[in-house]
Amino acid sequence: DTRQLQQLKYAKTRTLDGVDISLFANIELPEDATQAVEVGAVGVGLFRSEFLFMDRNQALPDEEKQYQEYRRVVDLMHGLPVNIRTIDVGADKALGAGTDLSQTGTSPLGLRAIRWSLTEPEIFLTQLRAILRASAHGQARIMIPMLAHAKEIDETLRLIEKAKQQLHQRGKAFNPNIQVGAMIEIPAAALVLPLFIKRFDFLSIGTNDLIQYTLAIDRADHAVAHLYDPLHPAILYLLSNIISQAKRANVPISVCGEMAGDPALTKLLLALGLTDFSMHFSQLLLVKQEILQADVGQLQAHIPQLLEAVEPEAQAKALEFLLA
Ligand code: PEP
Ligand code: MG
Repeated sequence: DTRQLQQLKYAKTRTLDGVDISLFANIELPEDATQAVEVGAVGVGLFRSEFLFMDRNQALPDEEKQYQEYRRVVDLMHGLPVNIRTIDVGADKALGAGTDLSQTGTSPLGLRAIRWSLTEPEIFLTQLRAILRASAHGQARIMIPMLAHAKEIDETLRLIEKAKQQLHQRGKAFNPNIQVGAMIEIPAAALVLPLFIKRFDFLSIGTNDLIQYTLAIDRADHAVAHLYDPLHPAILYLLSNIISQAKRANVPISVCGEMAGDPALTKLLLALGLTDFSMHFSQLLLVKQEILQADVGQLQAHIPQLLEAVEPEAQAKALEFLLA
């Protein structure tokens, strides 16, 4: 019941066999950070900044306005990390009208997220400067969506350096060592993970898009929704690979897609070696409840069998102890 669940927020997030787990919150608007703190999140794992840009009646927020919004989240989180994901428009998310920028791609394979930002360097630099300025007041971090190519990564990192230079010239305060992370949400990125491990301070798996692109299922198309399957063996294979490679390289790795907030999948993700989860605050204590009852060592024993299982019966057998 709810009272019991509420009590859990004071408990350490640790498995039965002593593995410490970190639970972060996904937020869409700055004020959501209040609820994140309320349920005991240890930071914001995903701030979907595009929600500041999607108001149909407003022009795009300028640097000052964005800075104030990012700063608000940083302040509300009292020194805990805040991953500000740079604008992820296109596909299902449209930009506010009143701008002549509504020509972002409408296809999930089109001009969206970082692809769009790199075609609008002034808008991107403005956002980067706003995030950097917020980093003077707490642990604001930059997180980049939808990267796949080395060239895109290099261009992105070059623009981050440029934004720092611009602020330096203007005498504005920022953290020069701000952490920069990448979302792993395109299968190609997962398959060349060393590229990302080498260039970024942290990684976060966007399972919503990783599933969409791996299975070629448009997230917004109801006609194929029944084929959208987080447990497809190809997805589990990719997750296992990403998590274990990042762990081996000592690069922080989280999951911030919907899978992380589904208590039915908590044991499975723990078994795959995940220790950092980011989810909507309403799910956090439910996931925590699963963690407190889990024995990672025991769960992990089922993984070799699971990763070999491509037949549904074999997979169901391997998953028997891994799903709640
Ligand atoms: C994801 O793709 O899993 C993700 C967290 O980002 P979004 O849902 O905003 O695309
Ligand atoms: Mg995504």
